[in-house]
Amino acid sequence: MATTHSLWQSVLGEIELSVSHATFATWFQNTELLDDNEDCITIAVPNVFAIRQFQIKYDDQVRDVLKKNGINAKKIEYVVNTRGKRTVVNRETTRNPIQPREEEIMTLVTPTAQEKSQTGTALNPRYNFDSFIVGSSNDLAYTACRTVAATPGTKYNPLFLYGGVGLGKTHLMQAVGNEIVARDPSAKIIYINTDTFVKEFTDAIRFKRKVSDKYRMADVLIVDDMQFIAGKEKTQEEFFHTFNELHQANKQIIISSDKPPKSIPTLSERLRSRFEWGMAIDVQMPDFETRCAIIEAKANLSGISLGRETVEYLAGNIKTNIRELEGALNQLLAYAEMRGVEPDISTAEGLIGNVRRSRPQHVTSKQIIDKTAKYFQLSVTEICSAKRDKHIVLPRQIAMYLLRSELHLSFPKIATELGRKDHTTAIHSIEKIEKAIKLDFTIREHVSEIKDRLYV
Ligand code: ADP
Ligand code: MG
Repeated sequence: MATTHSLWQSVLGEIELSVSHATFATWFQNTELLDDNEDCITIAVPNVFAIRQFQIKYDDQVRDVLKKNGINAKKIEYVVNTRGKRTVVNRETTRNPIQPREEEIMTLVTPTAQEKSQTGTALNPRYNFDSFIVGSSNDLAYTACRTVAATPGTKYNPLFLYGGVGLGKTHLMQAVGNEIVARDPSAKIIYINTDTFVKEFTDAIRFKRKVSDKYRMADVLIVDDMQFIAGKEKTQEEFFHTFNELHQANKQIIISSDKPPKSIPTLSERLRSRFEWGMAIDVQMPDFETRCAIIEAKANLSGISLGRETVEYLAGNIKTNIRELEGALNQLLAYAEMRGVEPDISTAEGLIGNVRRSRPQHVTSKQIIDKTAKYFQLSVTEICSAKRDKHIVLPRQIAMYLLRSELHLSFPKIATELGRKDHTTAIHSIEKIEKAIKLDFTIREHVSEIKDRLYV
């Protein structure tokens, strides 16, 4: 039987062929198989951010390849490698990680004018599932998109993604398109921004042209930023017919918007009800941990491994959206290269300092507890008391959650801040809120409202 080490090398070798170089370098390169007993396989991954990526994104793949290598894993556990960075034995196929492929350098560049002008028809290849980092803020959307990509027109139709700007909606929708075309190059995917759709439609009316029915030829119709259709009655009507035709023919429709269908003003009732036929999922701002993972992955794309504290500094200071997070990272890398300095925390501080000053980010634990208590009309004494009343317990749990997500405090520290002795209370409370945020719109609203108040 193969040794654990050589078995894992063979698994890695196979995985390397099926993921991009950057993905491999970021997540797989420094992994190890620690234990392969029958009940549970333990795999050590380089850091805490990697654990979730493996659980959500790569678990099936690892399982499959293990199986091919004769290991039928009942359970796979991912743990952080405490033995420090391990370098995987040089395989011949391994390229120098410092030397990214040309197309990977390209992916760091923001879309060019040419790319943008093509968005009416073409998909941007850099928006794929491989380069999308999953976390609790977007895993539902990610999973739904993967399902749709695997079986278009069957399960979630239409798929409606909503959420703030720069949070990955366009990326995910285009990833669906890219994956379907990769599998079936003849599939007709139409990606269109609602803005363009509205313009095309109004021009057609103005110049008395026939409204093009190219959208009705689509196998998959992806319509981005649906909020722009608000108030445009004629366009809504046209879209309604297109929608019906495609839907009846079991063609997949994917829509994004900055808000859920029911909150788009002046959206006709019949269109709204159509959108509610399928699945509507929101995409939120990723938590600290996921932001770290995104930075790490994106830095790796350009062949740079940032120090842990630099990654945390960026993730801790840019909380608006991922586009800005990417912008800050690109700025840091470009600056460091131009000046010939290290892209370390002090360089980052110099650059991001300005951003930070304009948005006071120095939130303290006292402020979090204060604002949470105030939001729920409780006193600080009440929220920190031993009382178990329902109207106090939830705010207390939310305060704990925020202490973790915003300040990254340790569990014992969080427990102490809220007058608890036992840190497992903090762990359970935080887990509970993390889950609730996904399932319960009200709780999600509470949390984001309090966050907004923290950063004004
Ligand atoms: P939206 O359409 O929601 O406004 P985009 O899809 O345009 O946002 O995302 C903004 C930028 O952030 C894009 O460059 C995208 O690749 C990147 N991005 C967003 N979410 C993620 C993620 N989870 N992992 C990696 N990159 C992401
Ligand atoms: Mg978008």
